[in-house]
Amino acid sequence: MFTGVKVAKVMRPTLPNSWLAANIGRMHTLSLASLSLTELQTHMKSWALPAFRAKQIIDWRNKGILSLAAMKNVPNNVKVILEEKMNIESLQLVTRQKSSDGTRKYLFALKRENQALKHIESVLIPDVGRGTVCISSQAGCVLDCPFCHTGTQKFEGNLTAAEILAQVLAVKHDLLTDPMQQDLHNQVTHIVYMGMGEPLANEDAVFQSLELLMAEDYLHLSRRRITVSTSGLVPQIERLGEKYPVNLAISLHTADNTLRDRLVPINQKHDLSKLRQCLNTYPLTKKRHITLEYVMLEGVNDRDEDLQALLKFVHPDRERVNLIRFNTYPGSEFAGSSTERVNQFAKGLISQGIRATVRRSRGDDIMAACGQLKTAKQ
Ligand code: SF4
Repeated sequence: MFTGVKVAKVMRPTLPNSWLAANIGRMHTLSLASLSLTELQTHMKSWALPAFRAKQIIDWRNKGILSLAAMKNVPNNVKVILEEKMNIESLQLVTRQKSSDGTRKYLFALKRENQALKHIESVLIPDVGRGTVCISSQAGCVLDCPFCHTGTQKFEGNLTAAEILAQVLAVKHDLLTDPMQQDLHNQVTHIVYMGMGEPLANEDAVFQSLELLMAEDYLHLSRRRITVSTSGLVPQIERLGEKYPVNLAISLHTADNTLRDRLVPINQKHDLSKLRQCLNTYPLTKKRHITLEYVMLEGVNDRDEDLQALLKFVHPDRERVNLIRFNTYPGSEFAGSSTERVNQFAKGLISQGIRATVRRSRGDDIMAACGQLKTAKQ
């Protein structure tokens, strides 16, 4: 998803290739990051290990600690068997960048057996009394939205539920181990699926990760604190609403079908009339709204006729518009609309009774547009 968050200096480079070389052949299909307590208890019993140890391990895991060495109350004989039977860590931190406003951007390598390294990005956006982690669901994206930096990268596959969840755990761990930031540790309060990839094109893994994020024995987050952002895959949005009715954000970017065919090419399959019908029935709790994301591109979707089309499309009781300033990047054919034009757009919407906000830019001094860190690494 295009998040509009911008990024610069490398804080902690590591060499994941060396880790991979040392660990190839030791990886498993079970991953600690995607097991419920009950599942781990069942596995522990089948491995002739005491089931009560599962609770201790899950407690560490839920704090963001995925290193067996750090699990002080777990005996060594248990650790040896766990290491043999499953993946303990799903990700390797490659780079972390920290903005002066507290925003942190992470580049991770996926730890997978016999595969070339794949990189993904996550972002922590701290705010007063809350911390939002923006996570990736795919390595790259196939949907080719022409303004999106991730869309310019090679698609390298779907993430597993463990790899999705491990991003949240890794951010918690980073905060826990930073002596300056320990007060923030418990402030991973919100999750947004707005990092690299189209979450609903990786439906099974994303749904499994949603279930675990909300599970009592995992992070136990309310569905009101989780947002899935999609470019508009209609059947998948309907299934999301039926099974996991979390907050929904739509990468709309224009309410003109012809222009959207170009800006968000999935529109050629699921056009605005199908999307409109689907949004009309997405389940919303009291005072909740669907967010329509609108990245403002100079001379492309910020004209007066674009505002009129948007006014016609939005359902004011159910939806709000989030205007995003476009952060251009080398090689982009687009430029961002001026601040004045963005504000005019917002006023035009508000004057017609539509809730509209302009997304506050975070992490300006680090490369934070989605996908830029990965490109810089490459
Ligand atoms: S769907 Fe893919 S290409 Fe389109 S904005 Fe999201 S990440 Fe970028």
